[in-house]
Amino acid sequence: MIPCSTPLAQYEAYRDEIDLAVRSVLESGHYILGPQLTAFEKEFAHYHGLAHCVGVANGTDALQVALVACGIQAGDEVITVAHTAVATVTAILQAGATPVFVDVHPDFYTLDASQLEAAYSPRTKAILPVHIYGQACDMDPILQFARERNLQVIEDCAQAHGATYKGKKVGTFGQVACFSFYPTKNLGALGDGGALLTADPVLAEKARLLRSYGWAERYISHIHGWNSRLDELQAAVLRVKLPHLDADNARRQKLAYFYSQALGKTFSLPKVAPENGHVFHLYALRHQRRNELQEFLRSQGVQTLVHYPVPVHLQPAYTRFGRSLPVTEALAREELSLPLFPQLTEDEAQAVVSALLKFA
Ligand SMILES: *Cc1c(COP(=O)(O)O)cnc(C)c1O
Repeated sequence: MIPCSTPLAQYEAYRDEIDLAVRSVLESGHYILGPQLTAFEKEFAHYHGLAHCVGVANGTDALQVALVACGIQAGDEVITVAHTAVATVTAILQAGATPVFVDVHPDFYTLDASQLEAAYSPRTKAILPVHIYGQACDMDPILQFARERNLQVIEDCAQAHGATYKGKKVGTFGQVACFSFYPTKNLGALGDGGALLTADPVLAEKARLLRSYGWAERYISHIHGWNSRLDELQAAVLRVKLPHLDADNARRQKLAYFYSQALGKTFSLPKVAPENGHVFHLYALRHQRRNELQEFLRSQGVQTLVHYPVPVHLQPAYTRFGRSLPVTEALAREELSLPLFPQLTEDEAQAVVSALLKFA
């Protein structure tokens, strides 16, 4: 079976470097809030040309810490999309705020800025755009809308490490940006991990306190915080992988281009907005008979996944935030993610294409 993604292949690709890094952490005796984390935070911030990075336990926590650090609280509304990992919405609720959903753009599947006005209320405090599948949102109209109404912009970059909008990396547009290092992400740890990025030293300091009991010094909580830290082992693994991120993304792009060239006449392919550098966390096809296609591909030895089978606003836990989101709902019926990860071989990609063309 050709897998949709496989973190094991990522480990194997950098095994020697990773083993060495892990060993050195094990032998250092320093496992939490140590030199690996400090170094990774510096390197990840530098990769984005920003001053501050704060490592946390996972991507959901990165969003929650960001929201709380931005002063978002109970009674506040945060505009976001329902076409996303449920984590985006979980974090808003964990911060005590209320998610207000807008639909996504019919071609690019990212937040449709033309719908912000209808979702806005005097309680709106922030916009949380999600750079879904590895493609940046159209940030200019989002930033303009936010500026005009004095809203914060918190970017969800969990699927878009290294993606660009008008030549600038995602994560550098809002007040703060949030990343996940879940093992299958474009930059993945060997376990859970996450981080926030910001240019604002005050926000960064607040995030640092929030992730570790509100401590500015040991045992003294200056604000109410909790425990959400990126540990030394994961930080060391991420330091090995970060220098390979651009090459890994280039490989994803090459494979995506191969798929698009081969499938263009027969399938509804992912579109890339002209101002975007898409890093193809996922290669998302659309097909009217999606379930049948998925079943057929499985019979041909090709694993695919659906992102996402039930949009957040239709999931039992969240129906109270429901509104009609036709593009989001169509995607839930039609989207299919093909195998795509840097170690996928040309032969495997060709086998995926052959199986798809057999169905068409
Ligand atoms: C993966 C993901 C998250 C959450 O990250 P975790 O590390 O799994 O908590 C948030 N938002 C999006 C869009 C994601 O894809």
